[in-house]
Amino acid sequence: MRTILQSCLKLAALLPLAMGTASAQDFDDVVINITPVAGGVSYIEGRGGNMGLFVGDDGVFLIDDQYAPLTDRIVAAIRLISDEPIRFLVNTHMHPDHTGGNENFGRMGTVVFGHDNVRSQMLAAEYAEEPPLITFSDDVSFHINGEAVRAFKVPNAHTNGDVFIHFQGSNVIHTGDVYRTTTFPYIDVNNGGSYLGTIEALGVLIATSDADTKIVPGHGGVSNVGEVTAFRDMLVIIRDRVAAAIRDGKSLEEIQGAGLTAEYDERWAGSGRIGGSASMLAAVYADLVGD
Ligand SMILES: [Zn+2]
Repeated sequence: MRTILQSCLKLAALLPLAMGTASAQDFDDVVINITPVAGGVSYIEGRGGNMGLFVGDDGVFLIDDQYAPLTDRIVAAIRLISDEPIRFLVNTHMHPDHTGGNENFGRMGTVVFGHDNVRSQMLAAEYAEEPPLITFSDDVSFHINGEAVRAFKVPNAHTNGDVFIHFQGSNVIHTGDVYRTTTFPYIDVNNGGSYLGTIEALGVLIATSDADTKIVPGHGGVSNVGEVTAFRDMLVIIRDRVAAAIRDGKSLEEIQGAGLTAEYDERWAGSGRIGGSASMLAAVYADLVGD
């Protein structure tokens, strides 16, 4: 218990810097793009995580909200597509590039949902961003615009508050940052993230998808179950290599220097801590040694 509390406190100091709490002028050049996905579902790119957008006669439903200085531009872009009220918003997880607009949307009357741990971790970390107003432990379903939209908790993966949002009629799943098509997974171990849990959560994604499902990642373009399966299989191979190295008595530093991800690095390795090979290997190692 003490360790968990210490982790939360440590995180409070670390994350705002690591994730980049930005001031308004950093956003001047950001352009908001809306890309149709399937049915009434689109995704919105600006800066930060991909947002989900679902429009229809009952109102506008959003997933995540990027950064607070972008809210006006995001709303203006939505208004090109729908004049209906923006009623509900689900946070896929706690990070500021997915929750930064919560306060602004809340003031407009949008009700913000998220997993219990999104709220508790944001409060523990003393984030400037406003946590979700309504939280849930396992899942919550919205019956809106003629279809069921189910947000459900997946195994602890990117953080301990990750949910997928499944548009069951449009056959679209938004994964938050559990799945990103830009880099290796980033495991936020200070917020309960887990590499082994990421493998499990991707298994849930594969099981929930069919060949036609459009998968909207937290960052990057629209994907599909074949790509997710290949990505999951890569993570399994890396896990097994790290496990073998640990059995051989290798230290974390030796593992990070052993080229265990070499054939994947050109496609997947991000340049920094987030999405980089070394931080991912540290997360694998921590899971496997039970640290
Ligand atoms: Zn994230």
